Amino acid sequence: MVRLDEKVINEVRNKADIAEIIGHYIPLIKKGKNLTAVCPFHDDHNPSLSISNDKQIYKCFVCGNGGNVFTFVQNYEKVSFVEAVKKVAEFYNIDIGIDNDDLQDDRYDEKTKHYFKVLNEAIAFLQYQLTTVNSKNVLDYLHDRGYDDDIIKTFKIGFDPDKYALSKFLLAKGYHEGDLIKLNLSKNYDDQVQDVFSERITFPIFDRFGSPIAFTARTMIKDLQPKYVNSTETPLFTKGNTLYNVHAAFEHIRKEHSVYIVEGVTDVIALYKAKKKNVIATLGTALSKQQVQMIKQLTSNVILCYDGDIAGQNANYKNGQILNDAFINVTVVNNDTNNDPDDIIKKEGVDRLNQILDDRLTWIEFVMNHLAKDHDLNNYSQKKDYAICVLKQIASLKDEFDRNAFINRLSILTGFDVTMLKGTINKDQRKISIKKTRKEDYEDKITSGRLRAEYEILAQMLSSPDACDYFVESIGYLPTASNNHLAMLILDYLRRHEQFIIADFISYIDDEMLKDLTLNVLNWEHLAKSYNKEVLFDANNKIKVSLIDEQISELKKKQRMTSSNSKKQEITNEILSLKRKRNSIQTCIMEENK
Ligand SMILES: [Zn+2]
Repeated sequence: MVRLDEKVINEVRNKADIAEIIGHYIPLIKKGKNLTAVCPFHDDHNPSLSISNDKQIYKCFVCGNGGNVFTFVQNYEKVSFVEAVKKVAEFYNIDIGIDNDDLQDDRYDEKTKHYFKVLNEAIAFLQYQLTTVNSKNVLDYLHDRGYDDDIIKTFKIGFDPDKYALSKFLLAKGYHEGDLIKLNLSKNYDDQVQDVFSERITFPIFDRFGSPIAFTARTMIKDLQPKYVNSTETPLFTKGNTLYNVHAAFEHIRKEHSVYIVEGVTDVIALYKAKKKNVIATLGTALSKQQVQMIKQLTSNVILCYDGDIAGQNANYKNGQILNDAFINVTVVNNDTNNDPDDIIKKEGVDRLNQILDDRLTWIEFVMNHLAKDHDLNNYSQKKDYAICVLKQIASLKDEFDRNAFINRLSILTGFDVTMLKGTINKDQRKISIKKTRKEDYEDKITSGRLRAEYEILAQMLSSPDACDYFVESIGYLPTASNNHLAMLILDYLRRHEQFIIADFISYIDDEMLKDLTLNVLNWEHLAKSYNKEVLFDANNKIKVSLIDEQISELKKKQRMTSSNSKKQEITNEILSLKRKRNSIQTCIMEENK
């Protein structure tokens, strides 16, 4: 395990600006003094994530995700804490003395690392096979297709020459048959271990960090269907959770602030030839929820580039809608050639592909063109259907200018009156306007009574050392275990540090539940956030009263259970004495409040 010194962590945190880092990943919206954003951690339709510049923390009041700058990077990039610190440090050119190999070691468990080893051996073996005399025809075929040695090396392309080659090699190396089958490299057929990808050109698939997880493979046997197969689901690979080439494209996507989405491996390679490296493939035309979530975490600008044929254009339409609904800004490559990117290079050259890739339609333009192909605009009912479909998409546009411009265009195209179209869109917008989650609703979830009193105390302890002193002198402990745990942690932190800095304190807490509790208490607006002795005094007494009430109700239960009269009397006396104690506390509260 890689460990970091707390001093280093805090130094990086101190140099970082949370708004700058979050703004690097997602667009920020300025609302008066505050910064907000559409939350990337849940299916957000309003800016629910708020960022505090003063405290250097963020919090989503719908899904509850929150923390300091490291928490954000950790959650956003799905990396470990140490990796998040390293990423933030790199952003500010701070060297924290940890290299990528140390991190790689930390990321996966032993079994997974073993699987990577098997897959890496397999990749190397298949790559080697491509260089042998026997595979010359395959290499010629690849060269013919314009796959030069750089591409073959970059994409680690290989070839499996026969039914047994890879399995035999891996078994001879001492790897277990069970593992090979689990990884879908081998299968049991006729009581023999055989290769899954025999006589196929192999393209390894890697995870986000460049570790191998599966293969997609093209057959070399003429007319054999399917031409391409992917690994089946394995402990490392689920197609719906995978974006091909994401490891290599990652940095380019960040640099370009956009990503091309294509169907398969050959498209990725075609775009690579056209010097577009911010490209990933969905390995098919279906787009899963997880893939959308992954894309959302890469960038908010997607350029759809499925094939130019009807199936490809339908995929652009279907997936564009899904991405658009997820608040991703979609543009579509204007490919009316009926070909896929690889064919375009073959038939018309790389320059022509580049020209096509740079010619993009906005989402609405694409929808208008695409739907016009399916609708006969000379037929009234088809024209009406067309207008309604297009209006639905126009309604989702945020920019009023854009909305008006496209309504005008639709009016010219269909002959329908602009005012009428606007009327329809307003109704539509109302229908699709999503129920807003009010911050107050969320805060209502805090119960009143004792729990509320405990939160009052914690909120002050998190904001003022005086409140902490008061806690030590007059309160001592909180009856709810997690709240007490947090109080102790605050005191512990204060003993070890000169200053209480909330964003650093968040790195210090290693319990997720306590971290959440801290953020909730800090964000609930109706809790006092500076030292207020009266509030603390009241809260403490409320806690005492509630504990007495609990004791009384326990005693009453006991009283009902017992049949002995003397015992009953004894309990009555106990209850009376507790009630007197409670009254004196309550008078005290009243005196204080006078
Ligand atoms: Zn959220």
